[in-house]
Amino acid sequence: MFKRPRGTRDFLPDEMEKRRYVEGVIRRVFEGYGYQEVQTPTFEHLELITTKSGEEIKEHLYHFKDKGGRDLALRPELTAPAMRLYISEYQQKPKPRKIFYIGNCFRYERPQSGRYREFWQAGLELIGSSYPEADAEVIAVAVDVLEALGLKDYSLHVGHIGVLRRILDEAGVGEEDQNRVMGAIDKGEGEALEHLLDTLGLGARERELMAGLLEMEGERDTIEKARELLEGREGPLRELDSLEEVVEKLGSFGVTDYVIDLGMARGLDYYTGTVFEIYAPKLGAEKQICGGGAYSLVEVLGGKKAPTCGFAFGFDRLILALEMDKFKFNEVKKDRYLVVSTTEGLLDEAIRISRSLRERRKIPCQIDPMRRRLGKALSYADAEGFSHVVILGEEEYKKGKIIIKELETGRQSLMDIREVEGFES
Ligand code: AMP
Repeated sequence: MFKRPRGTRDFLPDEMEKRRYVEGVIRRVFEGYGYQEVQTPTFEHLELITTKSGEEIKEHLYHFKDKGGRDLALRPELTAPAMRLYISEYQQKPKPRKIFYIGNCFRYERPQSGRYREFWQAGLELIGSSYPEADAEVIAVAVDVLEALGLKDYSLHVGHIGVLRRILDEAGVGEEDQNRVMGAIDKGEGEALEHLLDTLGLGARERELMAGLLEMEGERDTIEKARELLEGREGPLRELDSLEEVVEKLGSFGVTDYVIDLGMARGLDYYTGTVFEIYAPKLGAEKQICGGGAYSLVEVLGGKKAPTCGFAFGFDRLILALEMDKFKFNEVKKDRYLVVSTTEGLLDEAIRISRSLRERRKIPCQIDPMRRRLGKALSYADAEGFSHVVILGEEEYKKGKIIIKELETGRQSLMDIREVEGFES
C-alpha cells in the first residue's frame, strides 16, 4: 500500500464539491471588482523565490536541480510569480493592472491542523496605484469574499508597517536590521526582539514608543491614541495619517468592522505601508486565513518600480473556517439520474435516453455500466445519492413509456419517451 507524502491530502468528491463552491464564490467576487485570472507554472527558478524572500526560505522549500542542471523550486506562494508575470507581460500597459490567481503552493513545514505541505492560495494584486482607495479596495475584496461566503466568525486587523519603520529610521536603524526587528515582531518572539533592540542600541524613548505601539490594538480611536504617543515625531505621524486615509476609504467601501492593530509587522521585508490580516479565531493556532498589504516588489525582481497592494487567502483554512462555522455547503440537492434497462435488449435504448436527458434536458445522467438487475440498481442508486432512476421495462417500452422513480419519496411516474427526451417542446 502506498501512502500519500506527508503534509499532502486527497480530496474526495464531497470535499471537492465544497472546494469548487468556495472557489466559485471567490472568482465571482474578484471578477466583480475587475480582477482578471492568471495562472503561472507550478515550479519557478529558485532565484525568483530567494530574491523575494531571502536565502533562508530554502529551508522551507521543495527545491531541486532538473536534468539540465537548473535550480528550480515548487512555488511556496504566488506573489513573486505574479510579479514576474506582470514584469514580462504588463509593465508597458496602462495601470492599474488587476490580476488574481487560485493555485497550489508548497512549503516544507511541520504539518498540523491548517498547515500543510501542499496547500492552496487564492489571492490578487492591484499594481500601479499607491492611493488609499487602492489599499482600501483590496481589503474590501477580501471582506466581500467572506461576506459572500457567509463566514460569521472572523476579524479583520488593519495596521501600517511604516509607523514602526519610521521610528526605527529615526533611531538610525538600517533597513536590514529593521527587517530583523519586523521578523521578530511578526513571529511574536518577545525575548529575541528585546535582545535585538538592545544590540541595536535603541534609546529608552524609542523603546517606549515601540512597546507602546506594539500594544495598540482597538477601534478607530486607536489612531488618535497613537498620535498622542508619537507627538512631535513627524515621520511616524505621516504614516499614521496615511493609515487614517485608508481607513476612511474603507468606510466608503462599506467595511466598518475592523481592529486597528499597530503592532502588526508581517514577516516579509518588502511591505511598505498598509498591512492587514484576517483571522478565524475558531481555527486556533493557524487562525490566519488571509494576509496582505501594500508592498514594493516589482523593482526587487528587476522591473520598473510600481506600488502594489495584494493579499492571499489560505484557501484550505477558509474551508476549515466555514466547516467550523457549521456552514451548509450542499443545501441544494442537485438532480442526478441513473438510467437502468431491465433487459439487455434495451441497453442501447438506455444509452440513447441518457444522452437525450444530458443534452436536451441538461440533466446530469448516466447509465449503469455494471449491468445490475433492477433491484440492485435501485439500492446502488440510493447508496450513491442519485435523485432519480429511469427504468426501461419491456412492457412500458412497447407503449412508448418509461418509469421515472424519485428516490427520496419513492414516487414513480410513467412518462412518454418523447417527452422525457424533450421532443414534445
Ligand atoms: P503567506 O504567503 O505566508 O502570507 O500566507 C498567506 C496565507 O496562506 C496565510 O494567511 C495562510 O492562511 C495560508 N498558508 C500559509 N502557509 C500555509 C500552509 N502551510 N498550509 C495552509 N495554509 C497556509
